[in-house]
This record gives sequence, structure tokens and C-alpha cells, in this order.
Amino acid sequence: MKPHNVQMAFLKSWRRKRALEKTQIDAALWLRVIGRLRFLRGLTADELSRLRELAIVFLDEKELHGAGGLAIDDDICLSIAVQACLPILNLGMDAYEGWVGVVVYPDEFVIEREEMDENGVVHRFHEGVSGEAWDGGPVVLSWRDASSGSFAGYNVVIHEFAHKLAMSGADNEGFPLPHSDMDRARWQDALHAAFQRFTGQVDRGEPTIVDPYASEHPAEFFAVMSEMFFTASAVLARDWPELYAQLAAYYRQDPAGTLPPAA
Ligand SMILES: [Zn+2]
Repeated sequence: MKPHNVQMAFLKSWRRKRALEKTQIDAALWLRVIGRLRFLRGLTADELSRLRELAIVFLDEKELHGAGGLAIDDDICLSIAVQACLPILNLGMDAYEGWVGVVVYPDEFVIEREEMDENGVVHRFHEGVSGEAWDGGPVVLSWRDASSGSFAGYNVVIHEFAHKLAMSGADNEGFPLPHSDMDRARWQDALHAAFQRFTGQVDRGEPTIVDPYASEHPAEFFAVMSEMFFTASAVLARDWPELYAQLAAYYRQDPAGTLPPAA
């Protein structure tokens, strides 16, 4: 580390310590928010307490704004912070470095998309979406979709924040890079094989538990499978064990509790 970086790291850790000391989360608010998020029920008391601390740091370092007439309140802030921090429970807040904004709309919002057809003609159209993550910029969310954590296997907050984690680097095909302490070949093999298998199922029109949207692109596959990993972990561990094991290595969590302690 250069002296400048040492100083920055010191300031950051001092600021985080101070945020934890000065911030109290109302107990009733905390219980209400985590009570709505069913997938948090498997967390231990220690994990919940670390999740609460991370949420405090998240709210100190990120800026949440309402858009489309939505007035941001403590409930919205805490609910989004908790869901955003679950994927980084064992990675730490530095995994979300380099951007600060979270924009929250009351419901689906409309974005402009461009697509080139096979004749090279670019079509512009508008599409309603529940979330979006900008590289180096904000995460944009629909509160209606983010508020309840919805049903098992679906979570727009985890989806968009998984994109944020993956934006630090991708391989040629668009799969996110593993952490440096992971077996890169095993990670790539597991993701590629699972993606092939899944796109095959979707192409053949087979019914899938996983959202077919995951077949659109390797980056979407990672984001959707991350939703499964945290909100339908037992299903993912049962149906996609090698992918589950690799996501467990990536997130350093084993929500389904199916891996040996050493893994
Ligand atoms: Zn996506």
C-alpha cells in the first residue's frame, strides 16, 4: 500500500467505526423489515448482527434517492440496505466501492433500449423494468418489487447488486471473474456448464424453476442464479450442486447448509 492508500484506509475504517457508534436502528423497524424478508430466517444471530452493522455502514456510505414521486423513508432505506448487504455479508463493504447512488422508483420504471436487428437497423424502444445497475453509476430499483423480497427465487435487489459485484470484471463470454483465491477453471467450468444446460432447457421449452430470463446472457445468468442462491438456496443446491458450490465459494456463504465446513 502507498502511504496515501494507508491514510485512506485508516479514514475509511475510522468513519465506519463512527457510523456504527452513532447510529441506532429502531428495534421495531429492524424486526419489521427482516420479518418481511423470509430468506433471512436461516441466518444465525451472529450473521444477523453483522448484517445489521453492514446495513448501517451501507446507509452511511451510499445515497438513496426517491424518484417518480416516491418519498424515501427509514423503512425503504433499511429494507434495501439489508437486501443489498446480504450478498456481501462475508465480502465486506469494499466490494461495493466506486459508486454511491441508489435510486428508488415507486413501481416499474421505463428505460430506453436500443437493439440492432439482423439487417443492422437500430431499433429504439421503451421498456418497463424493476431494476437496473449502471457500471460505475447508481443502482435503480422499483420499491414495489424490492419491498417484500417477493417470492422464493426472485429478488430484484440481490439481482442488481450481483450485477454490481460482477462489474469488477468479466471473462470473454460475460461471466464474472472469480475472487483471486478461487479455482478459476473450476468456477468457469461450473458456470459455463450450468449456463449451457439452462439455455438448452429454455430453448426446448421445458418448464424451469429458474426465471428463463437467466438464459439471455451470462451476466443475467449469474444475477438470476444469485437470487436463487440467497432466496431458494435448497432448490439450487439440490438441482445445480456444482453451481451452488461455486456460488458458495464466491459469496463465502452456504445458505443451504449442504457443504462440508472446509469448503
Ligand atoms: Zn439483470
